[in-house]
Amino acid sequence: MAGGGFTGLAGALFLARRGHEVTVVERDGPPPNGTPADDAERWSHPGVSQAHQSHALLGRARRVLVDEAPDLVASLVARGVRQVPVALGAGTLTGEQMLLSRRLVAEAELSRFVAREPNITVLAGDAVIGLRVSARRSLPVVTGADLRSGATVDADLVVDAGGRRSALPEWFAAAGLRPPAEEQQHCGFFYLTRYYGLKPGCVLPVSKIPASVPLDYATVFALGADNDTFSLTVTLSVDDPHRRALREPARFEAFLQAVAHSEPWLRVGVPISEITTMSRIENRRRRLTSDDGPIAAGIVAIGDAALHTNPTLGRGISMGLMHAQHLAEVADGAGDDPAGFAAAFAEWTDGNLGIWFDTQVAADATALARLAAGVLGRRLELPDVPSARFAAAAFMCASQDEVVGVAVARMAHLFATPAEVFGDPVVAARISGFMDSGVSFDRPPDVPSRQAFDAIATA
Ligand SMILES: Cc1cc2nc3c(=O)[nH]c(=O)nc-3n(C[C@H](O)[C@H](O)[C@H](O)COP(=O)(O)OP(=O)(O)OC[C@H]3O[C@@H](n4cnc5c(N)ncnc54)[C@H](O)[C@@H]3O)c2cc1C
Repeated sequence: MAGGGFTGLAGALFLARRGHEVTVVERDGPPPNGTPADDAERWSHPGVSQAHQSHALLGRARRVLVDEAPDLVASLVARGVRQVPVALGAGTLTGEQMLLSRRLVAEAELSRFVAREPNITVLAGDAVIGLRVSARRSLPVVTGADLRSGATVDADLVVDAGGRRSALPEWFAAAGLRPPAEEQQHCGFFYLTRYYGLKPGCVLPVSKIPASVPLDYATVFALGADNDTFSLTVTLSVDDPHRRALREPARFEAFLQAVAHSEPWLRVGVPISEITTMSRIENRRRRLTSDDGPIAAGIVAIGDAALHTNPTLGRGISMGLMHAQHLAEVADGAGDDPAGFAAAFAEWTDGNLGIWFDTQVAADATALARLAAGVLGRRLELPDVPSARFAAAAFMCASQDEVVGVAVARMAHLFATPAEVFGDPVVAARISGFMDSGVSFDRPPDVPSRQAFDAIATA
């Protein structure tokens, strides 16, 4: 396993529990043995650049973990990770929950859990720097990996779980393999996040997905986390002239105070972190196949290394865990027919995860246009496209219709695709009826307006 982030660690666990011997090579060192606060604040994990940004594990992510390793979920909860109902508007999914935690608290617990597991060797502080490839057959076969320490790991299957910065194209080039096929969309979002601890005697407001409120020129998120902590996040355009000014705590908080969604959170919290920022957000799909079939056998990519999306809807870890679970389910067949395995794995990825990538790419085109107009103080109305209006109406209808609420919650938490939800005749009829009742797509005026934001950012 080249990379021991969320997907690589979980994939190793799921494989090991099916009897496979797994070596995890992780560039960063292990988490400290201390408190959850130590995990969040003292664990140096530069390989995951989003480590200090808000994270929620959607219902589907928890479902995979419960099905594969319920003892891991118990251990996360014992560490202070919160389980909350999967609810959207008027609908609640019976039997499902999501997990709320500071990213590094949950990942550190997973890391320690995996390190104790039989059949898994974790090489932390080392890195994969290249591939061993046998070109004796018509299709090159990857047989292992070279490490920075000078060691070599032989493997029936090399799994790239190196995340969004995976160096797989360089490894392929160095081994004389054709480059992987890539699709990329730069998202142009700038994230600012700060963590807070709950004041004594206060109660956290309810966390729901979507956890965000889109203003014309920004998106604001509030998400509960482990051990009575929570995060507040603002997303701006990378072209917003105020993006750096908002790193100043007084301005960040003055802005969140002015937004109705975040104000109650701010009231109950005490800052426990700096404001951390992140840019270079993109949607990227990397396929290890071309029109002629797989580029090589003996290697697959999972999680962010294979495809990652703008994180606004919090799908990344769910997708990575679904990918890891599928890998564990089929890995027995990797040795018998390496070429067939590589092709089938790519096909499953496209069929089951590609849909979320495609949906995000389409949504981001609109979101970016909204922010670009918002920076100029203009409002971009919802386009007059029936499918876009139907989807927007579904979320509005979900706030008052339990059947639609449950259906949209299933979609938001990756239990059902948009086609499955909107193709359900009962759900579609209820949304259509809601639209016929004269729904208004005008968004309420921003609080604060762009002019008010300008004033806060330049104060
Ligand atoms: C701002 C932001 C917010 C997000 N919020 C959410 C959210 O709320 N919910 C959600 O589900 N997802 C969220 N995501 C997405 C989520 O962070 C990713 O989908 C998830 O981390 C993917 O896990 P991964 O293991 O595939 O990759 P990563 O977490 O990136 O892990 C990759 C690991 O591989 C290691 N590595 C890389 N190269 C090598 C090498 N050559 N050798 C050895 N090790 C290597 C790295 O050190 C790292 O530990 C968010 C993402 C961003 C950017």
